[in-house]
Amino acid sequence: MASLSLKGIQKVYPNGFQAVKDFNLDIEDKEFIIFVGPSGCGKSTTLRMIAGLEDISGGTLEIDGKVMNDVEPKDRDIAMVFQNYALYPHMTVYDNMAFGLKLRKVPKDEIDKKVREAARILDLEKLLDRKPKALSGGQRQRVAMGRAIVRNPKVFLMDEPLSNLDAKLRVQMRIEISKLHENLGATIIYVTHDQTEAMTLGTRIVVMKDGVVQQVDTPQNLYNTP
Ligand code: ADP
Ligand code: ADP
Repeated sequence: MASLSLKGIQKVYPNGFQAVKDFNLDIEDKEFIIFVGPSGCGKSTTLRMIAGLEDISGGTLEIDGKVMNDVEPKDRDIAMVFQNYALYPHMTVYDNMAFGLKLRKVPKDEIDKKVREAARILDLEKLLDRKPKALSGGQRQRVAMGRAIVRNPKVFLMDEPLSNLDAKLRVQMRIEISKLHENLGATIIYVTHDQTEAMTLGTRIVVMKDGVVQQVDTPQNLYNTP
């Protein structure tokens, strides 16, 4: 269960630049929300504020009715997947996926179960001993997803997770992400430039420009498809 409520969210960076202005949005449990908009319009900043990686300058972030503004990132029950994977190069696939759980002092046998389950879902079972440099782009992206899945978060934030993949892999991964959304029953917020991803994955699309939400609608209404 995770509904999110963003009420008048603002971000002013230390240099005085206001990247997000009065962002209002209510997200229901299990929605797949897409953020689109030109580069620099504040999509990543908004995601990072939700994850707690960036302070919120104004407004209120609620998850399941609880104010989260000052909650530590590790206590937010949110996992974030970035476009550059951000894997630890010296760790194996297994250890990359296990790392976040180890930090949280999850018992070893439980970690093992979760890592193996995620590896099964993402077809990484044969690659657990490899280091990231011995993986393809698509495999690395799956490990990055695996690292998020093992935590079984209520909310997934994905910042252009497929933008570094070639066209064929993007299509495959898009299908994977769609299945994940169904299987995990998580609420997802997903940033993309790709209209096909937005249309096929999103329950609603948020169009941003210059730090402001311009429009929120279903893919059908937004792209005028039957
Ligand atoms: P998007 O994800 O839509 O491309 P971002 O959220 O990354 O946009 O950035 C929004 C705006 O905030 C951009 O103009 C960017 O240059 C600016 N910005 C991002 N990070 C910082 C920072 N640490 N300090 C000042 N300005 C920043
Ligand atoms: P640590 O890194 O904390 O020393 P261990 O190496 O003792 O952890 O591994 C604990 C368990 O995790 C093992 O029993 C094994 O099932 C699993 N494991 C660890 N590394 C791998 C790996 N590369 N591939 C598959 N399973 C692994």
